[in-house]
Amino acid sequence: MSYFICPTCNEKHYIFGEGGARKISEQFKIPFLGEIPLNSGIMSGSDLGKPIIITNPDSPSAIAFRSSAKNIAAQCSILAAKMQEEMKSESENKPADDSPQIN
Ligand SMILES: [Zn+2]
Repeated sequence: MSYFICPTCNEKHYIFGEGGARKISEQFKIPFLGEIPLNSGIMSGSDLGKPIIITNPDSPSAIAFRSSAKNIAAQCSILAAKMQEEMKSESENKPADDSPQIN
């Protein structure tokens, strides 16, 4: 959760501090996946088994969830491609021997 959009003043309130996850991701050189605005609909909907992405799909929180999900999927794809490349180069650089190969 990143900030709360106040229904009274319509301003963003950073109740957990601002930019902490982004700073940590930069510090540890890991991808920043997104920030989810806090919304009372998240809690009430979750308790009823109805995610905000269904109950209020155009809300900033639902948009942020979709964006974060896309970033997670993209990072999974990047990691899978890197792992395939590593496995490929390991198998190409492996010295030939007489042990049976499992493919
Ligand atoms: Zn306010």
